[in-house]
Amino acid sequence: MPMTGHCLCGEVRLKIEAAPIAVTHCHCSMCRRHSGAAVLTYAKFDMRAVTFSGPPPVVYRSSPGARRTHCGTCGSPVSFLYDGEPQSIYVVAGILDQANALLPSAHWYEADRLPWLHMEDGLPRHATQPDDEGKAS
Ligand SMILES: [Zn+2]
Ligand SMILES: [Zn+2]
Repeated sequence: MPMTGHCLCGEVRLKIEAAPIAVTHCHCSMCRRHSGAAVLTYAKFDMRAVTFSGPPPVVYRSSPGARRTHCGTCGSPVSFLYDGEPQSIYVVAGILDQANALLPSAHWYEADRLPWLHMEDGLPRHATQPDDEGKAS
């Protein structure tokens, strides 16, 4: 069954025809500012499995090698894209209709985690982002 998702206003819609490659929580300060949330959870997919409809998300280059996208109308974060990993898209988990079925596997940028945010889930915690976030380390 495909996954679906949409931004707050509903203009940006996506359909995903594959299971996530990895689901991870990112505590870095850039994700925090991008989303306004204490932590941003991503579901990584093969780009070929994701279809967007509605107006294309606005693209913001947040660092030399990465872009972030958001809805141009309501501002909902939509995705994170690495220039060096064009085959992948990191979809912001909170816009997915099936977010409750995701299985996170790790925390990134544990060193930047807000000290009052407690997530005692027993998952691996990486100081930054491991090179291959899909594998346990
Ligand atoms: Zn929107
Ligand atoms: Zn981050």
